[in-house]
Amino acid sequence: MTATNETQFLSDLATNETAVITKIKGYGAFRKRIREMGFVRGTTVKVIKKAPLQDPIEYELMGYRMSLRTSEAQLIEIMNVDDFNAENNHMYNDISCTEDVKQLKKNTGKTIQVALVGNPNCGKTSIFNQITGKHERVGNYSGVTVGAKTAHFNVQDYTIELTDLPGTYSISEYSPEELFVRKHLSEELPDVVINVVDASNLERNLFLTTQLIDMNIRVIIALNMYDELQEKGDKFDYQLFSCMIGIPVVPTVAAKAKGIGTLFDKVIDVFEETETMRHIHIFYGEELNASIQRIKVAVKKHHEINDSLHSQLVAIKLLGDDKQFIQHIQSFANSGEIIDIAHEESQRLEKTFNTKTETLITDAKYAFIRGALKETYTPASAQQEPKGYKADTILTNKWLGIPLFLLFMWAMFQLTFSLGSYPMEWIENGVAALRLLTQQNMPEGMLRDLLVDGIIGGVGGVIVFLPNILILFFCISLMEDTGYMARAAFIMDKIMHAIGLHGKSFIPMLMGFGCNVPAVMATRTLDGKKDRLLTILIIPLMSCSARLPVYVLFISAFFVHYQSLILLSLYLSGILLAALMAIMFKKLFFKKADVPFVMELPPYRIPTLRSIGSHTWNKSVQYLTKMGTIILVASVLLWALGYFSPPTPLRGACQSTESLPKGEVEVALSPPEGGRGASYLYRLGHFIEPAIAPLGFDWRMGISLVTGMFAKEIVVSSMGVLYRSGDEIETSSHNLQAKLQQQRHETGARKGEKVFTPLLAYSFMLFILLYFPCVATLAAIRHEVGLRWAIFSAVYTTALAWVVAYIVYNGGAIFL
Ligand code: GDP
Ligand code: MG
Repeated sequence: MTATNETQFLSDLATNETAVITKIKGYGAFRKRIREMGFVRGTTVKVIKKAPLQDPIEYELMGYRMSLRTSEAQLIEIMNVDDFNAENNHMYNDISCTEDVKQLKKNTGKTIQVALVGNPNCGKTSIFNQITGKHERVGNYSGVTVGAKTAHFNVQDYTIELTDLPGTYSISEYSPEELFVRKHLSEELPDVVINVVDASNLERNLFLTTQLIDMNIRVIIALNMYDELQEKGDKFDYQLFSCMIGIPVVPTVAAKAKGIGTLFDKVIDVFEETETMRHIHIFYGEELNASIQRIKVAVKKHHEINDSLHSQLVAIKLLGDDKQFIQHIQSFANSGEIIDIAHEESQRLEKTFNTKTETLITDAKYAFIRGALKETYTPASAQQEPKGYKADTILTNKWLGIPLFLLFMWAMFQLTFSLGSYPMEWIENGVAALRLLTQQNMPEGMLRDLLVDGIIGGVGGVIVFLPNILILFFCISLMEDTGYMARAAFIMDKIMHAIGLHGKSFIPMLMGFGCNVPAVMATRTLDGKKDRLLTILIIPLMSCSARLPVYVLFISAFFVHYQSLILLSLYLSGILLAALMAIMFKKLFFKKADVPFVMELPPYRIPTLRSIGSHTWNKSVQYLTKMGTIILVASVLLWALGYFSPPTPLRGACQSTESLPKGEVEVALSPPEGGRGASYLYRLGHFIEPAIAPLGFDWRMGISLVTGMFAKEIVVSSMGVLYRSGDEIETSSHNLQAKLQQQRHETGARKGEKVFTPLLAYSFMLFILLYFPCVATLAAIRHEVGLRWAIFSAVYTTALAWVVAYIVYNGGAIFL
């Protein structure tokens, strides 16, 4: 190998040649793997064998042999051994291949490439001049710095190669400056980037920071013009801000050379990784995130692109229709699939939101910045909220925020109730008609019973609640799409902190009101493991829409007044208990301190009908699917358990164990032929009765609870089956309501008394709210955090339900 000034790569080496590694390019998993294999600066590598088709190449380093693909070797910069030693000879003469890699890295990582990136006029050149002692022209207008200037100087034992880049507001493709900066960052790959931020104009300056975050490079923020911020009297908790965004922040006053020393000490810390940094991802919202994830999956399959670029960046740039970037991706072989997926996704997003994807991305970045600043930055003089954020003056107001939030929640439930009652009646009538039709047109027998009582009775009893659920989902989608949901999280942040959680956990919890399953999945947007687990554990206490049918049934049957308030109280009980549980779990399981996160505050926007429509529909499809699968199976199973009974050889023995009540329940619980005794269902109900007797529940409720473990709506369909009687044909919910109201105990001490009082109905609803997350939710929990936690949540919620129902029922009985 001959010494040249051009950069050489490992792939350029011929068989038996030796060189020293100087730099690893590339990203993510590749970079990590390559480093773990020992490919770090200063290590000597020898080419053992090049395969005939060039791929893969076998290398020897530190006494080991391993092979790399050519595309991987192209990302490793090397240098002639002699040249390298000449450059570093004051430290060592001979690189021993067995030396501890870490030590080697520390000793040989002498030169740190650093780049200054920032908006025009934020003080980059001033910092450059202060530290290098050069006197570059410092101007107070943009465009003075053209091209890059580089200088070398020493800090501690390190040589720093500092480059002053042109000022840009962004790193897209709009101006030659931007392209220049982008090229420098992606081709020169500076070890550390100093992002100079003008402290007197944070919001605009931080936009560039969000792009650096997307690029996943090592960044430090120089919070320059700190003197101006202080003069104005603004308060900026930059340490908290630094924690939130996972980037070290050093305040500087470049004009007076303040903070510059600290800044470069920090550069070394970050380079040596003694300063722990957290790589955060900006959250782009559900929809965009789905698209990003889909593209990332495709990128991860393409080794060459995945090794040389950060997959998140690829996804965002492609979605944002960055022409220059698309060209770059197209230059890789077989990149067509990625481009196609990105195109498809960007079309989908544009259709859904009726805006350019690029705008969506920009909005999300500002949402991130505003969220971070809202918690850390208080300007001395009140500022007008910019366009798109005006509503924040009221909606996130210190005094009005929470009352307004509660008002919206109340309105949502009111709407769910009142508006939902009309279509509910239509469906009810439809189901009843279908039942009648089947009843009249089919020959008597098991099949007819199965259809009428099992399938139509069970599924029909639940499908009547579809309108309520649609309205609830519509309201949730509306809150999400207008941007109010993010405010709700923001408003709740302080309260969430009080229970050891973060405001961001509030969004999955709110989603839990729709369905716990997507809510559990939505916790993926939380950055901390603990926060995630804790949130997942309390999500089942968020009253999902499946519980709504039970509430609607019981509230309309037993509460004439204050229906919405009672409904709201159930939801609030869930929230309150979730809070208590969170505090307890936090004390028990997670004692370590929290890491603060950014809560994005997107601009308010008027949602398109299309996006709300599609969100509502997607959520409803989940509900309908459940209807067609779990609920159908459970209804049939339940029907069968009630229809058949275990064979009893001795008639007398059966009679003596259970005296089967005659009359209205006979059809439901004993086989039509008679003589074989109580059905399986009847036995099951009685088997668990002792466990629920202290709560005042009867065996029918017990059976409903068991079946409700599949999905909580099934409680209603079970009751539809259990409380049906021979002479009546329809089990519309009004009908069921009447039956519940009239139901009396058939046996035991309370024989003849009414089963349900309003108090019992209320404690039963609480039990339904709290006990056992449905099977689908448990599956989701297992999928996200493992079987152990799934079992744990099943056990603790059921225990909690029992205790709460016991206290309410027995405590209430004393007062009422
Ligand atoms: P660049 O465009 O980012 O290279 O910014 P310059 O370094 O050219 O600085 C722009 C202007 O800001 C100059 O007039 C500097 O004197 C001034 N400046 C730089 N740093 C500070 C600082 O920390 N505080 C104050 N008050 N002014 C500064
Ligand atoms: Mg300059």
